[in-house]
Amino acid sequence: MTGQDFAGQRITVAGLGVSGISAARALAGLGATVTVVDGGDGEKQRATAAELEAAGIAVRLGDGETLPEGTGLVVTSPGWKPSSPLFAAAAEAGVDVIGDVEVAWRLRGPDAAPWLAITGTNGKTTTTQMLASILAAEGLRTAAVGNIGTPIIDVIQEGDDAYDVLAVELSSYQLHWAPSLRAHSAAVLNLAPDHLDWHGSMEAYAADKGRIYEGNTVACVYNVADKATEDLVREADVEEGCRAIGFTLGTPGPGQVGVVEGILVDRAFVENRQKQAQELAEVADVDPPAPHNIANALAAAALARAFGVQPASVRDGLRAFHPDAHRIQHVADVAGTAYIDDSKATNTHAAEASLAAYEHIVWIAGGLAKGATFDELVQKSAGHLRGAVLIGKDRALIAEALARHAPDVPVVDLDRTDTGAMSEAVREAARLARPGDTVLLAPACASMDMYLNYNKRGDAFADAVRELAAQDQ
Ligand code: ADP
Repeated sequence: MTGQDFAGQRITVAGLGVSGISAARALAGLGATVTVVDGGDGEKQRATAAELEAAGIAVRLGDGETLPEGTGLVVTSPGWKPSSPLFAAAAEAGVDVIGDVEVAWRLRGPDAAPWLAITGTNGKTTTTQMLASILAAEGLRTAAVGNIGTPIIDVIQEGDDAYDVLAVELSSYQLHWAPSLRAHSAAVLNLAPDHLDWHGSMEAYAADKGRIYEGNTVACVYNVADKATEDLVREADVEEGCRAIGFTLGTPGPGQVGVVEGILVDRAFVENRQKQAQELAEVADVDPPAPHNIANALAAAALARAFGVQPASVRDGLRAFHPDAHRIQHVADVAGTAYIDDSKATNTHAAEASLAAYEHIVWIAGGLAKGATFDELVQKSAGHLRGAVLIGKDRALIAEALARHAPDVPVVDLDRTDTGAMSEAVREAARLARPGDTVLLAPACASMDMYLNYNKRGDAFADAVRELAAQDQ
């Protein structure tokens, strides 16, 4: 491991969150003089500050905007906007700003584990976990890191020989602040407008996502159904011999992975890809076997195969993988209707994927729209909708889109945001559903108007479904 980049430097860490704390401790441990700055000054932050100060790290609360005197480098937490005044001050002083992923990258020694990197608007966590599961099934020492689990700097500090390969989830924010990152192979799963307030424009968002392909050595994996991802591969500057590998839900062409009659097949990493295909797994090995999730599995498989993983390990790894809670989670069947919790569908692109996965749906949606519009989502999904129950602050936007594009779909508009609202939503959905239908919580919105986070929203849904099941008995 190399720490000479940081030893002896005066470093300002922006943000007293999980990644900021991890960065501050690591950098101080390497001999840097560290000051953490944060605009907040609450009780919890003071307690954290006291702990850091005990470890010799300075903390300045209540001012996240001015650059501490003598700063030679700023290490930011991923959430801070590029337009933050602190970075303007850094630019003026000629001081570089980098993120936690860049720090981790620079800390790797010459023999460190290669990175297989994943980004995209939706499906990052799922795909990264699938990939880690496949790599583990091959007997490789690996971890799912990045925008997930243990802070990446902590994992890198375990040393060069702790892992054989890492499955790295990267958000567009992290990519923005990681200029020298060079992955072995990388995938962009899909690209839809999200976080535009942070990046400033769709072009800037796409450009940050596209950085993941820079300097890849073996494979740039893209989504055949999403041309924007292929364009990013074309624009990237990669190592000689690095290949573009497409994944598709259809029959794969040479140089692609895809699906043939329920089998996931590889026509990219076989001897003779003009004539040969290699079976990797069955669609039924993927949980849940919804189309977008098969796409995630194909992307994970492509990255694993780029690293030389055997076909049987792809199958075993996919079989061993089960998604985290609140991602198309089957809660219960009540009176012949399935109740599915996809509370993690916090934007329209994710909701569109889950609405495409079921035939007849009573859709529970709404919350904070974050500037999104719903016309396209409703147009594409209208044919699946048995009915809709709308909750949360921005539900009128969805109601209007439904009125415009699906006027025959019955809509229940719930004008309440108290803790009992979800119970009523589920009862109303049950009333609209017929046997064989699916009641799907896929809000297409953030949860913070009614809940602490999407987990709590999903828990409320599951509780309400259990109440309903109890009454049904
Ligand atoms: P991320 O880490 O990118 O937020 P997750 O794997 O946590 O992604 O999934 C987030 C949401 O996106 C889930 O609601 C899921 O249903 C949906 N989703 C997952 N994979 C895809 C995909 N490939 N395309 C569209 N939506 C997806």
